[in-house]
Amino acid sequence: MPGVEGSMPMTVTRPHVTTPSTAKASHDRRKQPANFACPVPGCGSTFTRHFNLKGHLRSHAEEKPYQCKWPGCGKGFARQHDCKRHEQLHLNIRPYPCEGCKKNFARMDALNRHLRSEGGAECRKIQEELNPGSTAHLDAMPTGASSATSDTDGSAPPSGDQVKPDPDGSWTVGGMMM
Ligand SMILES: [Zn+2]
Ligand SMILES: [Zn+2]
Ligand SMILES: [Zn+2]
Repeated sequence: MPGVEGSMPMTVTRPHVTTPSTAKASHDRRKQPANFACPVPGCGSTFTRHFNLKGHLRSHAEEKPYQCKWPGCGKGFARQHDCKRHEQLHLNIRPYPCEGCKKNFARMDALNRHLRSEGGAECRKIQEELNPGSTAHLDAMPTGASSATSDTDGSAPPSGDQVKPDPDGSWTVGGMMM
């Protein structure tokens, strides 16, 4: 039984040859350094002539024909929908950031709603650690239905000064579990 298969000695020694393309590249590099780099992030193309770079940049512009009209931005987009949405960001200034998840909210009540929601429980803790007292009014609110119903029964709502905790210490903080 001839059980000696593959007895041929394998030639592992492969001479490291310089491929024609590498030789050409090194030749080009020697000829002229690529002075003009494409400024588009993630592109990384370099050119020896400014003319070539300009032509290359035009191809980028064609990929993204929709440009943000906001002064100083000029971000390009391939689709008008994306461009429109991006431009909204400039207009929609959101001055109420959540310190927890770094989301920004256009209105204070939107931020508060987020903090009161189940998903915002962690954010609320963080927010309270950073700005103690900033969310105190949330505890004073009726849990759940935040709709202003007939709550004004003349029991002098706390005005001016901050809401003080009850002397009895009847803070109900653990009412958030569902
Ligand atoms: Zn480029
Ligand atoms: Zn923009
Ligand atoms: Zn958050």
